Amino acid sequence: MATYEAPLRDMAFVLHELLDMEQLAKLPGYEEATRDLIDAVLEEGAKFCENELFPLNRSGDEEGCTYENGVVRTPKGFKEAYAAFTEGGWHALSFDTAYGGQGLPKALNVVLEEMICAANLSFGTYPGLSGGAYNALELHGSEELKSRYLPKLAEGTWSGTMCLTEPQCGTDLGLIRSKAEPGEDGSYKITGTKIFITAGEHDLAENILHLVLARLPDAPEGIKGISLFLVPKFLPKENGSAGPRNGVQCSGIEHKMGIAASSTCVMNFDEATGWLVGEPHRGMRAMFTMMNTARLGVGVQGLGLSDVAYQGACAYARERLQGRALTGAKNAQAAADPIIVHPDVRRMLLTMRANTEAARALAYWIGMQVDVSLKHPDAEVRAEAEDLLALMTPIIKARFTDMGFESANLGVQVYGGHGYIREHGMEQYVRDARITQIYEGTNGIQALDLVGRKLPAHTGRMLRRFFHPLADFLEEEKSDPAMAEFTKPLAKAFGRLQEGTTWIAQNGLRDPEEAGAAAVDYLRLFALVAMGWMWARMAKLALARQDGDEAAFYKAKLATGRFFMTRILPESAARLEAIKAGKAPLMELAEAAF
Ligand SMILES: Cc1cc2nc3c(=O)[nH]c(=O)nc-3n(C[C@H](O)[C@H](O)[C@H](O)COP(=O)(O)OP(=O)(O)OC[C@H]3O[C@@H](n4cnc5c(N)ncnc54)[C@H](O)[C@@H]3O)c2cc1C
Repeated sequence: MATYEAPLRDMAFVLHELLDMEQLAKLPGYEEATRDLIDAVLEEGAKFCENELFPLNRSGDEEGCTYENGVVRTPKGFKEAYAAFTEGGWHALSFDTAYGGQGLPKALNVVLEEMICAANLSFGTYPGLSGGAYNALELHGSEELKSRYLPKLAEGTWSGTMCLTEPQCGTDLGLIRSKAEPGEDGSYKITGTKIFITAGEHDLAENILHLVLARLPDAPEGIKGISLFLVPKFLPKENGSAGPRNGVQCSGIEHKMGIAASSTCVMNFDEATGWLVGEPHRGMRAMFTMMNTARLGVGVQGLGLSDVAYQGACAYARERLQGRALTGAKNAQAAADPIIVHPDVRRMLLTMRANTEAARALAYWIGMQVDVSLKHPDAEVRAEAEDLLALMTPIIKARFTDMGFESANLGVQVYGGHGYIREHGMEQYVRDARITQIYEGTNGIQALDLVGRKLPAHTGRMLRRFFHPLADFLEEEKSDPAMAEFTKPLAKAFGRLQEGTTWIAQNGLRDPEEAGAAAVDYLRLFALVAMGWMWARMAKLALARQDGDEAAFYKAKLATGRFFMTRILPESAARLEAIKAGKAPLMELAEAAF
């Protein structure tokens, strides 16, 4: 049976031993984020996710959302869970105290999001989208918009959406047709159809704030002519409460492969009243500044799913009796041994675990960079953190969501036929994980972002924020023989990444199709090195803690790290080969021959 217990020990290892998260308490505004507080928040968050959200995951999937005459109902239990969630202030953990949030680090929210998404991804999309709307308004809204709407989002009584996609435009937002006509009172009339809008309509909140991309009448063609508007479902009254209905309606919900309890809506805007957020024609800029956190959030969905799939598979592998260990019976008194004795089952479990634990370390580290980039008093340190965050965001989004899907798939495989049938809940993870590779920019687009925007930015400055400290680490650890089994393969993979980078810089500049052809393999190679670095850093700590009360924990860390170095990291060689094969194998085949 699917099972979920928040991995608090591993989270504490990463947060406190590896990353010293308490450092964040030195940043202005985060003074309260001490280790005690962080641990207390996570313990309570874990209880909520395990006891309230996880039990609704399966029933939510079975029941799904329903639509009737413009009204969307979430599955049984979601309303109560959402009320308890917002009452507990979980949705506003890192919202500003000035608006009623708890003012805690964004990195702590990343950890909470991992637990929420592991326990119930569909549920997580509702507060997730409100968080996206909050960030967009906080960063780009006028003081008037912020003071009117942010406290409502912080209360949790109003929720948010992001309305970008239209039938003719998904990836290419330059094709947006929705229109905004200026009114005389400073507001706008928004008209158009948006599709696939997560949480566009539901019964969890009193009001829904849509952040909508649309074109002004004088807008230039394409991506440079798009503006961002705030369009509430109910227009606010003078006293701030929800007033008359605005001209926005949900005309249907999608029936889809996964996240059945997350409403995916067609939204029709018919001269709906809205307000400009940020400057005219600069809507994409506003979107881009908040995309890092949104994409990081989707990467964390992959991390949560990967972990919960591992937990389910692990529990089953200990119980299921089939065959005998190749070296002789391990469980002689029973008719067969548990399948965890078989090397291939261990390969699957360790692949899930080694990727998940490295991803957790990378996600929390980069999550901390969000806080440093926002709060550090030194502008140079802020800029460095921002660079690292921008560089790693597409890698985390794409690799972690691929990992979530791969782990979910392996989870099913560990269960055999019992994973394929619905009864044990494992197939749901495969279906739920699939969308994370698509929304918030498909994973192919993330790779193009990495290669096309992040690599060349400021003549490789972003890249140096990662390469230099990694090179320093390898130099420092070179003389430690105990670390050699980690540093040698990492140095080799890093060399491949450097070679791949040079190859793309030379060939991509000459012919952009070369860069496009190499992009996905390059992102994967980069992720392998980044995760390998996390493993080497974790191994360093674990090596020093092989005795004592928690020896078993640290021995398991080392063993899992060794698996990563020997069975996963070598994939870097194949990725480099694929990059260097160039575009010819992809572009040679005539279109008509497909
Ligand atoms: C369940 C669900 C929830 C969603 N939630 C939201 C939401 O809340 N708000 C919102 O606005 N949207 C939302 N979306 C939309 C989602 O973000 C888009 O589906 C996604 O961005 C891809 O757009 P598309 O589906 O039109 O695919 P297309 O853009 O048509 O892409 C099709 C394929 O072509 C590839 N491709 C496209 N252009 C290029 C290129 N230039 N180079 C290389 N490859 C390319 C893509 O990678 C993809 O593989 C949601 C979608 C779903 C299914």
